Parts: sequence; C-alpha cells; structure tokens
Amino acid sequence: MNVPVRSLYIHIPFCGSKCFYCDFNSYVSSETVMERYTDALCKELTMIAQTDSALPLRTVFFGGGTPTLLPPRLLEKILQTLHQFYSIEADAEITMEANPGSVDSDTLRIIKEHGVNRLSFGVQSFDDTMLHSLGRLHDRNTVYRSFEMARKAGFYSINLDLMFGLPDQTLELLEDSVSQLLMLAPEHVSVYGLKIEAGTPFAKWYDAGHLQLPPEHAEVAMYEFVQQSLADHGYEQYEISNFAKHGHKSRHNIVYWRNEPYLAAGAGAHGYVGGRRYANIKRLDPYMEELEAEKRPIESVESISVEMEQEDTMMLGLRLAEGVTYDRFFTRHGVAMQEVFGSVIQDFAGKGLLEVDESGVRLRRSAYIVGNEVFAGFIDI
Ligand code: SF4
Repeated sequence: MNVPVRSLYIHIPFCGSKCFYCDFNSYVSSETVMERYTDALCKELTMIAQTDSALPLRTVFFGGGTPTLLPPRLLEKILQTLHQFYSIEADAEITMEANPGSVDSDTLRIIKEHGVNRLSFGVQSFDDTMLHSLGRLHDRNTVYRSFEMARKAGFYSINLDLMFGLPDQTLELLEDSVSQLLMLAPEHVSVYGLKIEAGTPFAKWYDAGHLQLPPEHAEVAMYEFVQQSLADHGYEQYEISNFAKHGHKSRHNIVYWRNEPYLAAGAGAHGYVGGRRYANIKRLDPYMEELEAEKRPIESVESISVEMEQEDTMMLGLRLAEGVTYDRFFTRHGVAMQEVFGSVIQDFAGKGLLEVDESGVRLRRSAYIVGNEVFAGFIDI
C-alpha cells in the first residue's frame, strides 16, 4: 500500500563549533554562507512542494546542525517559505532543534509566531567538565537559562537530549545529570549512548588510547538507571532511546520508526517518497550550486524492493515499545508478517528477546540493550 507523505525534514547544517564526537553534516560558517544556504534551501522547498507534496503536512522537523544558530531573519524566511508553499495541518507538530546558548528571545518569538511548537535541546550532560571534554559550547547554567527562556516564550513541548557512556563518566555523574534534568521537567527526553564515529577527533583519540570509556557493564547500568529514573517520574519509554510525558511522543520520529514516507530538504538530507529513498548532496557548495542552477540537489536515489521495505518495517518498528502489529504489517505490505518472518520471530522469541502475542511482536525491555543484534536478524533472510 502506498502510504501518503505527511512529514517534512529540513536540515540546517550550521554549528558554532564542532563537538569532538560529532559526524553529523554540520559546518562552522559565516553569515554570508548562511544567507546563501537559506536562499538555496527556500528554492528547494518550493521545488519539492511543486513535485512531491499534495496533502497537508502533519509533522515538520528542523534538524541540524543547530537551526537556531541562523539569524532570526533567515529563520523567518525559511518558515515563511514553508507556510507559503505547503499546506500544514492546524495541529501539526513543528519541531526545531536547538542548543543551549543558541536561542534568544527574538529567535524564540519569531519561530513561535511561525508555528514552531516543539523545541529539542542538545544538552548531553549537566556536568561542566564533561561538557567541555565533549567540545560542547555551553555549560550547565546556560541550559537553565535557555530552558527558562523557552518556557517564557511559550514552548510547552520541550525535549532534552542526554548522553551516557561518555569518557570518564561514572554512574554518579550521570545520576547528577538525570536529577538536574528531572528538576527542569521537560516533556520529552532522548538518551543516547556515545558511539565513536570514524573521522571524528574522538575516533583519533580513542585509537591512540587517550579516551577512557566506561566498560560495557557500566554502560548497561547507566542505561538501566536512566530507564528506571525516567519511569519513576512519569515518562513512558516508547522507543529504545526516547521517553515522553503523556501526549508528548515525537510524532515526526514515529513516522521514521513506522517506516512511513517523508520529504526532506537541505544539504545531506535523506527523504523517502514513492518507494524510493533519496539523499541530497552533502557538501554545502555543490548543494547550493545545484539549486542556483535550478536543479534538485539529489545525489542518489535507491528504489526500495518489496523485501527491503518489509525488513525496514521490522527493523525500525521493533525500536518502538509498541513493536510491529500484525494489522499494520498486513495493511502496509499485503502479506502476513508471520508468512515472511515467522521463523526469525520464533527464533528470537525462543531466545527470550522478542515478545509475541495476538496483536503483534515487540522487543522485550530486557533486550533493548541488544536490540541491534535482533534487528540484524531481519535482514536478508
Ligand atoms: S551541536 Fe550537534 S550537530 Fe553541532 S557539532 Fe555538536 S553534536 Fe554535531
């Protein structure tokens, strides 16, 4: 079944500096470059609207980079273009990523006036020494100030990102960060374990033996501590890394996990439309040049076969606490889940990693930490 496209991702690839662990497509650039990028992005948004989008959008997500690093007038231009060329549902979720310290009252007022109703702050830790060693630009006090500013500006749906498994991080240090976070009472929390990504300063230091990462058992203890603390404070864990208060699950990210289609604009952005996944040109100059020549900046397109689509539905859907229901699978693929994946499911259920009932299949909570092993079992069966 062809699922209609109701979501849009917009990539803003600018940061104040590069964090030591980061391999996202982001750059430290001048305002002149940001201005040129904004023009290119607005052109791409109009092109997409003319070709791909028909139905009103339900979710829009501004990711980065640090979208709020753009000067307010440029953010306003992008948001005006969005509203001019796209129909957006009245209760759509419009999220913007931000970093503590990258927001001021002007920026917050403008984005709110243009419909942004959810903010996601990359906090990562409340420990100043830890933040410094990650190459983050903010400190703990900046988090408090930015959070308060966002509340004052009228944002009542805020996510805070936290990281664990960091160099020299102890369970005690993480406990302190979690308790600081809980005092702020955000509506949503995302918690990620550090991964050493190739090409980053962290990868270089790790290879040279200069990074002391917590051992695996300590990392597991950290993850379990976060799960328990957030559950004790009324957050529902609805995905391996995501926790929400009632009514505040990320609707945009659920689109990804349910393997539904989405549009994407911006350098290096990835979209999924009409059974095809596409990737935009990553580097800023060639991305902007393509648009200046009135061309869509698409670098690669991959047609997703029926088998790949079914595999993706399982791999992504099993990240969700709700798992994959038989109904959803059948409606989407026109075939019973058990017919395609019956033996894999039986195998993992036998190992105690999957839970199977009359409605569908889900990862057991005790298996979240080894989720990747299960997901891999659904590929190329
Ligand atoms: S703020 Fe986010 S996107 Fe920017 S460098 Fe740091 S981790 Fe990467």
